[in-house]
Amino acid sequence: MNNMTPKSINRIQPKRKRPRYCEVSGCDNSTREGKPYCTDHVMRHPYVKMVAKVIEGREREILNVAKRGHRAVDVYGSIAQEIVSYLKVHGTKTIKRIARDHGMKPETTRSYCDALRRAGIVILGCNKRGNQTAMVV
Ligand SMILES: [Zn+2]
Repeated sequence: MNNMTPKSINRIQPKRKRPRYCEVSGCDNSTREGKPYCTDHVMRHPYVKMVAKVIEGREREILNVAKRGHRAVDVYGSIAQEIVSYLKVHGTKTIKRIARDHGMKPETTRSYCDALRRAGIVILGCNKRGNQTAMVV
């Protein structure tokens, strides 16, 4: 038993009772809820990598749209389609409200709505207070 390492304990203990240890070599941290990696190495998990990649892609797109305006919008991409779905559910909304509800800057949101308008997917208008609005066609 002197040669036991946390990882060899992973293999011999019954699955339900054993603490699980991080699979990164040289890391002896235990993991939570039977996960393969500890909190220090959670980014090595394939699902976490995939989610991080999706988030990075979205952030890159938002930065690009903030810089280049409506020309950088993919109207069939996930962010634009989230705005379309949101407008289908909630009806006409101001650009400011759409921005707030999507955690984006109003100028960037305006570029998304402008691209969607150019694609014939939304109509832009103005409410009584003079704020620009968007609604799905
Ligand atoms: Zn670890």
